[in-house]
Amino acid sequence: MRALLTRVRPRRLEAGVQNLLGKAQRLQEETGLPEPHALEKVYHQLQHQLNRWGQVKELAQQTVSFRDALPPEPFFLCDSGLGGLTRWLRAAGYEADWIPDVDDSVLIQEAQRREAILVTTDSMMMERRILRDGIVPALWVPPAFKMHEQLALVLRELRLPLRQPRCMQCGGQLQVVDKESVREKIPPKTYRWLNEFFVCQGCGKLFWHGTHWQRIRGQLGNLSV
Ligand SMILES: [Zn+2]
Repeated sequence: MRALLTRVRPRRLEAGVQNLLGKAQRLQEETGLPEPHALEKVYHQLQHQLNRWGQVKELAQQTVSFRDALPPEPFFLCDSGLGGLTRWLRAAGYEADWIPDVDDSVLIQEAQRREAILVTTDSMMMERRILRDGIVPALWVPPAFKMHEQLALVLRELRLPLRQPRCMQCGGQLQVVDKESVREKIPPKTYRWLNEFFVCQGCGKLFWHGTHWQRIRGQLGNLSV
């Protein structure tokens, strides 16, 4: 037990041992298990936790292996549950796409074909050889994370700075456009308040730094690497 604990928190080893012994004692009292069995049970629980912890660490390790070899324009392909993250990656200035309702193998093939970094919440998928070997670089984000936490994780793990925002709809580049030339497309109140307007080179959508955009960018600013 002590040896197992050493692998987690050596600085608090004694407290950890006492805590586990207490746990075993409570288990003994509640279930009437003989002491060695109660200890064994607590030991197995600890081992299970360590394995999970080891898995998270290992998944992070997979990321580090390709971080230093990122292309200047990294492209992210997100799994079907990460539509929100895709849009926010674009807002952070990165090319990103996602494919809803698709088989793992098709998603991986697509990532390979498009030379993308695969982003997934599926730790089982990370076990696939093609990802483990780094043939397709892949990044795992915990499914329990909120979307802005997922984005923070991606940017921090890969040490990526914030860039000029891209269109959140299609990922296209935004170009400044003359206010007067798009006057009829701007709500009157916005026209009075703002002077900078952008058109997406991909889908033609008109953008401005409204309150929604400012909130998003503000949150991104807090995540600076
Ligand atoms: Zn667009």
